[in-house]
This record gives sequence, C-alpha cells and structure tokens, in this order.
Amino acid sequence: MRRIMPIAAAAVLLLAGGCSGKPETEIVWLCDKAAGQSLSLFPDASPELVASLGLEDEVPSSMSAFLVRKDGKVLLFDTGLGLPDGGIRRGLDSLGLTPADVDYLFLTHFHGDHIGGMLDAEGAPVYTNAQVYASQPEYDAWMNMPADRNAQAIRTMNAYSDRLHLFQFGDILPCDVEAVYAVGHTPGHTVFRIGDILIWGDIIHGPALQLDHPEICATYDMDQEAAVAARKHMLRIAREQHLLVAGMHLPEGFLDFRTPAAE
Ligand SMILES: [Zn+2]
Repeated sequence: MRRIMPIAAAAVLLLAGGCSGKPETEIVWLCDKAAGQSLSLFPDASPELVASLGLEDEVPSSMSAFLVRKDGKVLLFDTGLGLPDGGIRRGLDSLGLTPADVDYLFLTHFHGDHIGGMLDAEGAPVYTNAQVYASQPEYDAWMNMPADRNAQAIRTMNAYSDRLHLFQFGDILPCDVEAVYAVGHTPGHTVFRIGDILIWGDIIHGPALQLDHPEICATYDMDQEAAVAARKHMLRIAREQHLLVAGMHLPEGFLDFRTPAAE
C-alpha cells in the first residue's frame, strides 16, 4: 500500500483537482502527538501474532486531527488533546491560520483526545468563530454518563452551546460533509465523508495489528461487537470505493486506497 509521508508538521494533499472544473478540496493532517499505543490495550492480539508482526511493546499510532479547505471555508475534524506542546496549533500556524479562522468544527466523538483542544486553560472556547457539529447519539450518551466520566464533555459542550449543532447519521452537513454511522467505539461515533475522503475517527488505533485483523479491538472501544462491525464495514468501503482514509490514530495520518494497483 502506498504511504503518504508527512511534510513537516502537516501533510497537504490536493484532491478533486481543478482540471475537472470543480473547486479543489485540500486535506491536511495535523499531528497532535506521535505516540505508540501500548500492546496491553489490545488484549485479543495473541502473543504469536504480535511476534509475527515484529511488535514489541507498542503499536505505531498517533493522536491527530485533520483540516480541510473546501468552498472557501476552513473545516476542522477533532481538536486533539489540547496540551500546551501539542501539534494542532503548530500545524495551524504552519498554514498561516489561527483557531479563529475555523468555520466549522466536526467531532467524531467526545473522548478527551478529540475534544480536549476545544477549551483553553481558562475554560474558554478556543475556536471562537466555529459552528460545531456532533452526533445526537454521542451527545445524548455523554450527557447521561456518570459524573466521574462526563465532566469534560459537559464543560466543553456547554461552552459551545450557542453554536452546537446535533446531527443524525446520514445528514449532509455544511460543505457537503456526510455524517456516516460508525457506532461502536463510542455510542455516537461518526465517520465523515467528503467525496473520496473518509475521515474515520477511531475506527483503527493500531493499523499494524488491526488492518489485517479488524476483529481485534482496543480496550477504548466501548461496544466491541459494534466496533468490529464498523471497522470491517469502513475497511470494505475504503477498499471497494478506492477512498483516501484520514484517521485520528494512524501513525502517518492517512491510508490511501485510491490507487488499487498500489495496494
Ligand atoms: Zn481517540
């Protein structure tokens, strides 16, 4: 499979090029943190499999977000952990952008490594001009969790309540972003599709293990049976429809299934 290597803080790809007469869509990988996932997070991976893959303690991974420029708008997908030394702000800087330039913020789900960058240290919204989109099932599930689990989600969603838009799966959101059902990792986990781009959130945490073994879950998957089904489904459509996959825990940001001969 062809791999796309990062260019400094951000990998820039041009898609749906101008030759077709259509406006271009640009997707940029914003790597918040390059980090391996401990093998202890994948208890279903047998020692034999782990050994056969040459893995020792960790599976290569990352914590990432993605920025898309389309129709003259700036779209951000997730926000990373929000750590002071995180790569999201550096990535925006390298593009000559600030958080205030983001028009639309799309959330795959409410785990802290995805919504953590939405508030600053004082608890104020970072993305001051963004309209925010999250799935209704995700919102409902988190609002009803025990208080020891949902404090960050409640604080964050409340801070954006005047511009928080809750969607249903199948809805077409601004800039023709389609919200695709991918429940399992969390109760409202969403994959976003833009043309031949699939921004798939936490479908995969460690591709070295899970690409060929989608039945293996990370312990982060809240409903493991549904997560396996979503992982198999997304891999199937990515391969069959030759899509470019952007994943929040892919070590190189992208998996490119667009050129079948390259697989
Ligand atoms: Zn995650």
